[in-house]
Amino acid sequence: MIIDDQHYDVIIVGTGAGGGTLAQKLAPTGKRILILERGSGMALDEQNRADVDVFKKGRYRAPEQWYDQAGEPFSPQTNYAVGGNTKIYAASLVRMRDRDFTAVTHQEGTAPEWLFNYADLEPYYTAVEQLYQVHGDVQNDPTEPKHSGDYPYPAVDHAPVMRPIVAAIAQQGLHPTPLPMSLTRQADDPTGDAEVFGIDLALKHTNVTLRTSAKVVALHTNPTGTEIKGVQAEIGEQSMIFNADIVVLACGAVNSAALLLASANEKHPHGLANKSDQVGRNLMKQQMTVIVERGAANNDGVFPRSVSVNDFYWGDRDYTYPMGHIENSGGLLQDVIFAESPPLLSVLAQIMPGSGLKQLAKRSVGWWAQTGVLPDPNNRVYWHKKGKLRYAYEVNNFEAHDRLVYRWLEVLKTLERDSKEAKPSGVYPRGEAPIQVVGYQCGTCRMGTDPSTSVLDGNCRTHEIDNLYVVDSSFFPSCPSVGPALTIMANALRVGDRVCDRLKG
Ligand SMILES: Cc1cc2nc3c(=O)[nH]c(=O)nc-3n(C[C@H](O)[C@H](O)[C@H](O)COP(=O)(O)OP(=O)(O)OC[C@H]3O[C@@H](n4cnc5c(N)ncnc54)[C@H](O)[C@@H]3O)c2cc1C
Repeated sequence: MIIDDQHYDVIIVGTGAGGGTLAQKLAPTGKRILILERGSGMALDEQNRADVDVFKKGRYRAPEQWYDQAGEPFSPQTNYAVGGNTKIYAASLVRMRDRDFTAVTHQEGTAPEWLFNYADLEPYYTAVEQLYQVHGDVQNDPTEPKHSGDYPYPAVDHAPVMRPIVAAIAQQGLHPTPLPMSLTRQADDPTGDAEVFGIDLALKHTNVTLRTSAKVVALHTNPTGTEIKGVQAEIGEQSMIFNADIVVLACGAVNSAALLLASANEKHPHGLANKSDQVGRNLMKQQMTVIVERGAANNDGVFPRSVSVNDFYWGDRDYTYPMGHIENSGGLLQDVIFAESPPLLSVLAQIMPGSGLKQLAKRSVGWWAQTGVLPDPNNRVYWHKKGKLRYAYEVNNFEAHDRLVYRWLEVLKTLERDSKEAKPSGVYPRGEAPIQVVGYQCGTCRMGTDPSTSVLDGNCRTHEIDNLYVVDSSFFPSCPSVGPALTIMANALRVGDRVCDRLKG
């Protein structure tokens, strides 16, 4: 074991939406910052310029296996690289609605309120939209919360095939709205991610050091268990210990919890910061169903995501519980048509086997239906045996999601019936995201005021260990129906302010 002789002010573990955004926030302080990332840089042609690659042939699967409730192994779709999952994400950056921060009643129970409200996070949403060059437009969506500033760039144009569809959706009295997207405006690397807008900016400061291929395997405390004294990483064949005044975990919800649990010691026998037995629990991920609309006009199958519909976010005329968010998938040759979503693929293969799928893609468009779930302490990650990470997860809040999917099918049928361009197809292949699709995970170290029922305080610092923070999606006390990335990034800026204050000392 080698003990690094440098002392850092801050160590950040992980470079995704949380870690990358925090790094660029702290870099201008001039403090000595070390970033440890288990992956390495992704070559441009490996990145998310064609969504299809994300799913095809098991690409972007973690090199290890996790185990489901029944002990069956699976390869999680999670990306270990500089930028984390934002290197392969779709880059739609949507704000949580203001009510999402309150105690929301769902059909199956009430989701807890957050320790801060929308107004508290709003300035950070605006700042992070500037940082990530979000292209959007706040007009038209009655559920969109108030913005204190405009998006820095206008919304992405709808592709020609989408224009009549968007108009026909509006004709039904709904409010199709431009989907906010992070874009670099560079042809060779168009998607805005936490490497480009986080780590690259941080590394312009000479006080910041990035070590890649550095997998953190344990955190060590002082003898009283009140402070992290050492961060142990495997770097190639070497085991190294680094130390810092402040340690921030940003490994993603599953891996941050796994690391805390694996670091158990005499003072923390059930895992670090886990007196409450809440570390790893309340794992959540949105329910996601992709729907293929086969009756669309001919198109090239390659066009960007551009539209969302939130009219059913809080319910519908005959259902008063939240149902969720709809967004289009972009052209199907870039997105789900070849996706490794077994239910969808098998339906499509029955309709049109082999190369017919490509023709199908060119006269179809796709839609994602997304619905939040409730926190459940039995949904959790834990070490079943050394090296065997158990991912015990059962979906809840089914009916709300089913209703969203069926309501959206009704919208599609109506628009196909009424439109000149569309040909009613009658069949809408669809598939739910399987267990290995873990990219939208959150929870596992939830934030709360009571140390006996939560892991983190309102500043995302652990209740039990004074110099340990977590800024990935672990802190979410509830799971919204919009994608989590923008909220993780905005919260990283918020926590960054607290860490900057502490560094000023
Ligand atoms: C295909 C796909 C599409 C998506 N599309 C969208 C979208 O359009 N909109 C949206 O809002 N969300 C989207 N998401 C979800 C979004 O990408 C995640 O919510 C977000 O990236 C999570 O941020 P994070 O900081 O929690 O973790 P991550 O971004 O996962 O970052 C974690 C980092 O920690 C590193 N790490 C893990 N363990 C260790 C360790 N032990 N030591 C050192 N480093 C470690 C990882 O390599 C990684 O770099 C998508 C996800 C996927 C997979």
